Amino acid sequence: MKTTHRCTVLARHRLTPRTVRLTLGGPTLTGLTPLPAQDIEVLLADARGSRVKRHYTIRHARPQAGEWDIDAVLHPGGGPGSTWAASAEPGSPVEFVGPRGKLQLRPADGHLFVGDEASLPAIAALTEALPAGQDATAVVETESPADRVPIAAGRVRWLERGSRPAGDPQALLAVVAEEIRAGRFGQVYVLAEAGAARAVRELVHGAGVRPDHVFAKGYWTADRRPAVTSRNPT
Ligand SMILES: Cc1cc2nc3c(=O)[nH]c(=O)nc-3n(C[C@H](O)[C@H](O)[C@H](O)COP(=O)(O)OP(=O)(O)OC[C@H]3O[C@@H](n4cnc5c(N)ncnc54)[C@H](O)[C@@H]3O)c2cc1C
Repeated sequence: MKTTHRCTVLARHRLTPRTVRLTLGGPTLTGLTPLPAQDIEVLLADARGSRVKRHYTIRHARPQAGEWDIDAVLHPGGGPGSTWAASAEPGSPVEFVGPRGKLQLRPADGHLFVGDEASLPAIAALTEALPAGQDATAVVETESPADRVPIAAGRVRWLERGSRPAGDPQALLAVVAEEIRAGRFGQVYVLAEAGAARAVRELVHGAGVRPDHVFAKGYWTADRRPAVTSRNPT
């Protein structure tokens, strides 16, 4: 059963120039231990007052204290999620549902993680949770090197987007193709912009990785119109 948590923003700090870490706390989080990279749906209102949900990965959980950290990207042209994260201050209330999400690590000799700023918290949490002896490679594109955070993978290929639009899959595709040719990956996790995730998934399937060994999920959508989940009755 999904629980709605009515919590408070306890702390905020700037993790990178474009990412803020928010610590959320409340009594209903006490004793909960989410799986690595499970997420929350933050319940927000868009500019028209319609209710919307935005997903954020639970980066750290402190079950005894009843605290969860999320790392939110402040992207240009920010929608309700980015706008909320940019202005959430300690003491402000926040409502969310979770923990949720089907992404799970599956045993394999080699794991390949592919993503961008929005999936960095998930990739960081998943690589930290890998059992000893299971190799991980990560291919992650960020706008600039300043957006990078440590990842516990044996091999990390950082790509710099520069002035190319976020969500353009070309650089990811080229480097993932190189990695797939050179390595052996029992599990592949693609967490990126929806179109980019589809393109990388097709590349990986085409290179012979069995479909049931690939988890691909769109973490955001480049041309998203405001998504209305339900109307605010007022
Ligand atoms: C399971 C899951 C876990 C996630 N975890 C995190 C997380 O830990 N941290 C995090 O920052 N995001 C995370 N995301 C992604 C986040 O939910 C999306 O980026 C979301 O669209 C942001 O909502 P918004 O209201 O700011 O923008 P939206 O209203 O969705 O979109 C408005 C505009 O902003 C642009 N946009 C949206 N997201 C991005 C982006 N990431 N980069 C560049 N442009 C963007 C869109 O192109 C659109 O034009 C996660 C998504 C999923 C599915």
